[in-house]
Amino acid sequence: MDLQATLDRISREVRPLLSEGQVAAYIPELAKVPREQFAMAVTTLDGQVYRTGCADQPFSIQSISKLFAVTRAFQLHGDDLWKRMGREPSGTPFNSLVQLEYERGKPRNPLINAGALVVTDILCGSFDPVEAEVVAFMRRLCGNESISYDVDVAQSELATAARNRALANLIKSFGNLDHPTETVIRAYVRQCAIAMSAVDLSRAICFLAHRGTQPFTGEVILDGSSARRLSALMLTCGTYDAAGDFAYRVGLPAKSGVGGGIVAHVPGEMGICVWSPGLSESGNSLAGWRALELFTTYTSRSIF
Ligand code: GLN
Repeated sequence: MDLQATLDRISREVRPLLSEGQVAAYIPELAKVPREQFAMAVTTLDGQVYRTGCADQPFSIQSISKLFAVTRAFQLHGDDLWKRMGREPSGTPFNSLVQLEYERGKPRNPLINAGALVVTDILCGSFDPVEAEVVAFMRRLCGNESISYDVDVAQSELATAARNRALANLIKSFGNLDHPTETVIRAYVRQCAIAMSAVDLSRAICFLAHRGTQPFTGEVILDGSSARRLSALMLTCGTYDAAGDFAYRVGLPAKSGVGGGIVAHVPGEMGICVWSPGLSESGNSLAGWRALELFTTYTSRSIF
């Protein structure tokens, strides 16, 4: 299989989609990102990197950070995490409040906003500031010391985070948030504002494709069973309320963000990241999603 030729073909084929989709505008700083951009990177477990488009250009990872934050929390607390959140798909948008009221402040899973706020709260018990720990974790995972969070994006979200504050306050009212709401929100928006390239993320995700051990450094991030479990969560919950369709079309564990990035992995083979800022109605990158669908189709890869 010629991976480079496959990526180049995909890059050509998704081009018509780049003018469709909407850039996330509810975070004013993200609304400034030009829509017609595309990047795709694949890192194989033996360290080969394949790329197309602007794959070295950092973008706002947004909800992709939720995957790495929950990995860190899972390392520290294991199954105790599930006392404070579930592991079921929500079937509602990523920032939805309704379910949280019915379910008495226990978020459905750690990959939607409500669950990620509880994960941040848990990390606040071990790290101060939490965002510095998540940044350090990302740097280690991809061997890029220059990774950092974008202060303007974080500030922009902090100024407009009414809905996330509502989620955090509702969770707190049910006794499922230990730290002050504002402390949690500040750490959360900074972690979401981490900027990374498609190449960085395709490398960072490789530990999940490699039974929990980062293949390039040998660092054991999670044991094999925990890595498989987190991957299961990605499949069922990683693309918000579109996870069923994503499993149907793409068939890989993945996590998306409103910055337009999606990370995915092929177990035993490779880490993948796509980026294109135009989103579909479900908040997932339109061209990125299609690129992953074409990738698994052309390479006959899927977990099924
Ligand atoms: N920071 C964004 C938010 O909390 C992340 C959402 C996302 O990427 N889905 O709204």
